[in-house]
Amino acid sequence: MTRAFNFCAGPAALPDEVLLQAQAELLDWQQMGISVMEISHRHAAFESMAAEAEQDLRDLLQVPDDYAVLFMQGGATAQFSLIPMNLLGKEADPLVACVNTGIWSQKATAEAARYAKTHIVADAQTFQNTTIPPLVEWDIPKQASYLHYTPNETIGGLEFHFVPEVESIPLVVDMSSTLLSRPIDVSKFALIYAGAQKNIGPAGITLVIVRKDLLDRVMPSTPSVFNYQRIADHGSMLNTPPTFAWYLSGLVFKWLKRQGGLSAMAEINKRKATKLYRFIDESDFYHNPIDPDCRSWMNVPFTLKDDALNACFLQEAEANKLMNLKGHRSVGGMRASIYNAVPEQAVDVLIDLMKDFEKRRG
Ligand code: PMP
Repeated sequence: MTRAFNFCAGPAALPDEVLLQAQAELLDWQQMGISVMEISHRHAAFESMAAEAEQDLRDLLQVPDDYAVLFMQGGATAQFSLIPMNLLGKEADPLVACVNTGIWSQKATAEAARYAKTHIVADAQTFQNTTIPPLVEWDIPKQASYLHYTPNETIGGLEFHFVPEVESIPLVVDMSSTLLSRPIDVSKFALIYAGAQKNIGPAGITLVIVRKDLLDRVMPSTPSVFNYQRIADHGSMLNTPPTFAWYLSGLVFKWLKRQGGLSAMAEINKRKATKLYRFIDESDFYHNPIDPDCRSWMNVPFTLKDDALNACFLQEAEANKLMNLKGHRSVGGMRASIYNAVPEQAVDVLIDLMKDFEKRRG
């Protein structure tokens, strides 16, 4: 068996070690003669695995004690609605400040607009989403309940390499495609959320890390299974959680710890991204339009000199077991998503193919 190098934006590559461990444990988990998928979430063995996964995540991110960690369902898209529903219940005329940096932040804003007035404080669209408007120019209304932004735009490949200082306005961030790629200071954020299917685990689980003092603001009409306070009170098991996804995410957290934690991942991720961008910049054949200060470490979109060559490039890539490089339809060209589980060797092999292709077709 040869594993391919998988550059998919999500659901994305999982570490081989994790998949092999899941395979080895599939029929017989913890000497019970059954799989982790086939027992009650109320079983002591499952509960202790779930608690350990939460603790490992807290260790990796150094989550302070005054934050709740919730394992939810519905993906990041559900959070686009659940965040206003959980945070705006006490406001008569709520206002949400939003930064527009691309497709995902636009979707989050559109959903928030169903529950509150929204105000775009900075709009990267003015720069075709190639750079983040300078912080000094952001127009932040003081009465905003929170400010939402997307630290990494998975489609456009635009990433914040800073946390905006916005005085007392709580920061709410969609870290779906950047969480666990490097250390972060959780205490700078009021709420962090992320769908699992990039750096965390398989699709089906969504992480929410929220400051506990914000848990008393829910709109009364919010369904119980989406009420952060109730979920926190029940250890994310108000109803049946996605048990296999939780287990597999737990294996990923242990794998990350074995790699040396998030500082070690940051070093590798930075190196992977830097070499790919450097190669693209030095070539006249490939192009990435993003401001070098705002380039994503995780998602690297690039175009070929001639779009007519795209199909041929993808065909050659797949023949060489470099999978899922097709760019998002809104951007075109290619996109290499190089999350934690994509080894540095994959980037080296991709660069070799790109070099060779340019030599023959450039
Ligand atoms: N936000 C970002 C930044 C994403 O990349 C994605 C998925 N690619 C989403 C939100 C939507 O996530 P989900 O499909 O889990 O709802």
